[in-house]
This record gives sequence, structure tokens and C-alpha cells, in this order.
Amino acid sequence: MTEQEKRRRARARRRKRERERRRKIILGVSIFLLCAVLILIFIFAGKLRKKGSGAEGNALQGSSAHDTAVQGNSAGENANSMQNAENTANAAAEQETVSFTEADIHTGDLILVNSTYGYDFEANAARENLVNIRENQSYPYQVEKPEYEISADVLPMLDAMIAACDAAMGTTETGITSAHRSMEYQQNVWDETAMNYGEDYAAQYVAVPGYSEHHTGKACDIGIFYADGSQGSFSESRNAIWMRENCGRFGFIRRYAEDKTEITGISNEAWHFRYVGFPHASYMVENNLCLEEYLEYLRNNTSEASPLVIKGNTGSFKVYYTTERTIVKPSGSYTVSGDNMGGFIITVTS
Ligand SMILES: [Zn+2]
Repeated sequence: MTEQEKRRRARARRRKRERERRRKIILGVSIFLLCAVLILIFIFAGKLRKKGSGAEGNALQGSSAHDTAVQGNSAGENANSMQNAENTANAAAEQETVSFTEADIHTGDLILVNSTYGYDFEANAARENLVNIRENQSYPYQVEKPEYEISADVLPMLDAMIAACDAAMGTTETGITSAHRSMEYQQNVWDETAMNYGEDYAAQYVAVPGYSEHHTGKACDIGIFYADGSQGSFSESRNAIWMRENCGRFGFIRRYAEDKTEITGISNEAWHFRYVGFPHASYMVENNLCLEEYLEYLRNNTSEASPLVIKGNTGSFKVYYTTERTIVKPSGSYTVSGDNMGGFIITVTS
């Protein structure tokens, strides 16, 4: 090997070492940069998360500012994490309440009106919302008198029930023989019945003025109307059987059944139907309970912690009784009705 050749090889080795050194430096710098970028991403993401939960916590605190208990709880702790934000939300939901008045006890779809519990005209004065049946009916059934009125909330279900009954019977004979009655109207019914049939008969079939379900605007009497204008016997019609079995689907109950006369104090009336709403009507029909029995059951057996659960076609309902004037606002949609005796029935849709 010549001297020249030796130097050439030495230069080649140096260049190779140099290349390897540069490659290592580049690799090292690359790894360092990659790590730095990852660390920055983590730090940045963490800051974003904190910022988000902090804003949420503040908003919740703001919305519950009226509630001193919630404010007191969360004021000390800075609501700057997801967990704290959730706790604040739960506390706010827990504290939201609904309050009832004395008048509320005497209003609603489930109020009991019988010979013991009279209708509270004053409490209901602003809430009756009566409409003329003939002028507002959506299905053209017969209405005995043009002035008959019923609660606007009840009319659509009455229309639907009569239309369904007619369709099932294949006739158009189902109609209304009585609906809402004022105090004066009931007095006239009582006087006329007593005059024509005697007071004993009147006491059996006609409620004392002030104690009639017809005052509520949620009750009606169903009749049979022939094409020539004459009326038939509803009690003896197939319509009566159909309606007794199907009224629950429309929120109605047959109020005065033969086997409940000792409880209701009214003789068997195949024609008298009362709107009580969902899911109460279908539950009462299925379990053969009159309104007195149903309300007594709810009063003695249910509470917010242990409601009656009724499964419906569209979901399930929780029904419970309370005498509290302020309750925690139920989560989900709910309705409240007084029982006209001293308490409330809360119905929660879940
Ligand atoms: Zn009636």
C-alpha cells in the first residue's frame, strides 16, 4: 500500500466517522424536538380542559344564585374540575322545588266530588275553561241541548271516545245527554226529579247541588240518539258495554258502577263518565277501582320514595300521594292534581 493510498483511506475513515457523528446529532435533535412537541400538546390540552370546566362551574353557580344552600356549598370550593361542576349541577337540581296552595287541593283531574266532598266553586273559578260542545266538537255526535259545555281539556278525549265507540258499533248513535252543570242547573235537576219521582228517587240518582261531579266540567252522561231524533236506552245498548270496557284508553272512568254503590253513594249509572286523565283511568278500569278506592289506595300506599308504577303504551308513570305543600321538582314531565280532600297526586312520566 502506497503512502498516498494510506492517506486516502485515513481520509475516508474520518469522513465516515464525521457522517456518523452528524447522523447521531440529527437523530438526537429530532427525538428532542418530538418530545418537546408532545409535552407542549399535553400541557396545552390540560389547560383547555381546565378552562372549560371552570366556565361550566361558574355558569352553574350563576344559575343557582337564588339558592343560598347551593351557593354556600360551592362558594368555598373553586368549581374548576369536571367533578365539581357535576356536583354543583346535582345540588341545583335537588334544590329546585314546586309549591302548592290551599286552592290547588280542590282543583285538577283527580278531585273527588261526592256526597261528602263538595265541589269548590271558588278554587276552580279561574280554571274551569269550559267550552260549548256543539261549537267545538271535532266529531259530529248529538248533544241534547245546544248550551251544553265541558272542560276544554276534556273535549278532545270525549270526541275521540265517542268516535271510536261509533266506529266499533258501526252506527252514529252515541251522544251526550248531560255535561257541565252550574249550581243553579243542578238545583233545577234536583227539584224536577224530586217533583216527578219523589225525593227518595232523587237522592238515589241526583247529587245534592254543590256535590255533583257535573260541576267539575269533567263529567258527562252518554245517551243513544236515533236518526229520527228519538232517544234509546244507553244502559241496555251495546255501546254501554263497549264504553265501560274502553273508556280508560281515553282517560275516562265509568264513575258509578253496580258493585261500588256502597262506596260511591250513587246507584248504578251506566251512562255517567268522568274524566280523570292518564294513566289513572286505565289503571282504575283494569283493577276495578272506583275513584274513592283509587285515591284511598294512593293515600295509604304511596309516597315519593315508593310510588305506584303504572306501565303505559308510551312509557311508565310514577304516581304518588303527598300532603306536602312544597315538593322537590320531579325530574321529567309531571302533572299535579288535588284530591279535594287534603292532598295531592303527583304523576311523573318517565
Ligand atoms: Zn251524570
